[in-house]
Amino acid sequence: TPLVVAVDGPSGSGKSSVSRAVARDLGLAYLDTGAMYRAATWWCLDQGLPLTDTAAVADAVRALPLVMGVDPDDPTVVVGGTDVTAAIRETAISAAVSAVATNLDARAELGRLQRAAIKAEREPGGFSQGRGIVAEGRDITTVVAPDADVRVLLTASEEARLSRRALDVHGTADASAVEATRDQVLRRDADDSTVVQFHTAADGVVTIDSSHLGFDETVEAVLAVVSA
Ligand code: C5P
Repeated sequence: TPLVVAVDGPSGSGKSSVSRAVARDLGLAYLDTGAMYRAATWWCLDQGLPLTDTAAVADAVRALPLVMGVDPDDPTVVVGGTDVTAAIRETAISAAVSAVATNLDARAELGRLQRAAIKAEREPGGFSQGRGIVAEGRDITTVVAPDADVRVLLTASEEARLSRRALDVHGTADASAVEATRDQVLRRDADDSTVVQFHTAADGVVTIDSSHLGFDETVEAVLAVVSA
């Protein structure tokens, strides 16, 4: 029977790379819902929309021509025929994405797309041929797929999260790189926390604290929850 694994966590918790590895290991599809918020932000900015215009942003997101790659080895993001996989990781997008994430109409629309992508992977025609999917984000265990077979909240100390983010963005986790990411990461988490709750686990959600775990150990910990 198809398996749905939901993974939530703050930025720098390692949820994207861990979720990809879990999907690969189990032969499942992989959905990065944060990439969908980033793609929506890229689309609005590309059209020159002021992100403070909540009605215009909601309309733009409803018309978002988004194609999400769900192969964990190649999670390509395409918007209106443009491959934005790299562009959505740029600082300008990270700095602006909370404006879309706190837009409740945009959230409703992206949530609808996320549920459809999850449903497609429970059926034979999808990428995983009906084996299932690992979906990760901030509200997958609670809002998008509260009925998932496996629900995990991946946490890590602020120190661990900042140094992982610095390593991702700057290629080093030295003191100045950590400082350069600090404000942005903490501000984004604070903004996101006004609409999504991802710091404590909801009922039935298993918390894995990766602060003192290596990457492989974290993947093993999630796989252990899946097979429990
Ligand atoms: O995971 P990532 O850091 O790429 O997510 C980018 C942004 O997308 C988050 O800061 C948050 O604003 C938003 N997001 C969300 N709900 C999700 C996934 C991401 O609001 N399920």
